[in-house]
Amino acid sequence: MIPVTKPYLPSRDKLDRYIDGIYERQWLTNNGPLVQELTKRLEEYLGVENLLLVSNGTLALQIAYRALGISGSDEPVEAITTPFTFVATASSLKWDGVQPVFVDIDADTWCLDPALIEAAITPCTRAIVPVHVFGNACDVDAIDEIGRRHDLKVVYDAAHAFGVTYKGESLLKHGDAATLSFHATKLFHSIEGGAIVFKRKEVLERARKMINFGITGPESIEELGINAKMNEFQAAMGLCVLDEMEDNLLARAQVWRRYEQALPASLQLQAKPEGLEYNCAYFPVVFESEEQAVRVAATLKENGVLARRYFYPSLESVGCLKSQSAQPVSKDIASRILCLPIFDQLDQPDQDNIIKCIKVELNV
Ligand SMILES: *Cc1c(COP(=O)(O)O)cnc(C)c1O
Repeated sequence: MIPVTKPYLPSRDKLDRYIDGIYERQWLTNNGPLVQELTKRLEEYLGVENLLLVSNGTLALQIAYRALGISGSDEPVEAITTPFTFVATASSLKWDGVQPVFVDIDADTWCLDPALIEAAITPCTRAIVPVHVFGNACDVDAIDEIGRRHDLKVVYDAAHAFGVTYKGESLLKHGDAATLSFHATKLFHSIEGGAIVFKRKEVLERARKMINFGITGPESIEELGINAKMNEFQAAMGLCVLDEMEDNLLARAQVWRRYEQALPASLQLQAKPEGLEYNCAYFPVVFESEEQAVRVAATLKENGVLARRYFYPSLESVGCLKSQSAQPVSKDIASRILCLPIFDQLDQPDQDNIIKCIKVELNV
């Protein structure tokens, strides 16, 4: 089966050398030298400051909420977020006692629609948690401004936006914090892992304590914390993947462009704002109807290809999030979308076969 994505496996020799070093030092976790090196290299690569590595992208969100004072209070608290995302964006809020309040997406960019945010603000609202979905940029200028005007924290879930720049600068510079996931299936990965980019140094320092149980010295526990540390083996994989990022990106860009050129014009692609440098992390397409999307997915599967219904279902319909509301645009896009396989090793004959299956199914 051709999967929707494949984890990037970097040079084994190089990874072995890093692991030899770990064995020599016998320093496996707790802010080891490889975690420190990866922190510096990622700050340089991404063009950001105040980056904190953590054990996964979900804890990145949860630590960001805590460090910014969004979660952790005894009062009822809400955060405005998008229903069109991976479940972790909303479930991480709910898990930490923050009620997700969904606001619908823009029909073209599939990101949170800023025009709908203000009507959803209540006295309990503490934060806005938008998602740069599939690596597209949210309307960051409008959202940052709403956050300032209403004194709300803004945490961007940037799990898909590794390396994306907007108007010449890292997209991760927007908001009080932006979070990344380095899960094996993501563009850049450390097997499991994640990072938070904070706007302010004080918040980073607070978060640094939180990821290690709130411990600040051999006999001092300063505040409530949890274990969200990245370990040295994760960092070793991250360093190896980072070294090969250029080739990975070039191969994906080629796959991306081939789809764009060959697929029928009746399919809707994600609209991206002027000034966005995209990372080609995903290739989502919206079909004319749910029936058509489901039919294409079934045909692809018969031909050994696993396209996935990302993101389906739209999260307002997920009962455990306790946030039922009508989100017609998200519901509609979610029902008609498929993500097509994209990864560096996808070869041209396989991709041509995927394109052919879709064309046959659409009679073009
Ligand atoms: C992958 C992902 C996460 C969760 O990251 P993990 O590293 O798997 O915990 C959160 N939000 C979005 C949008 C994601 O795609």
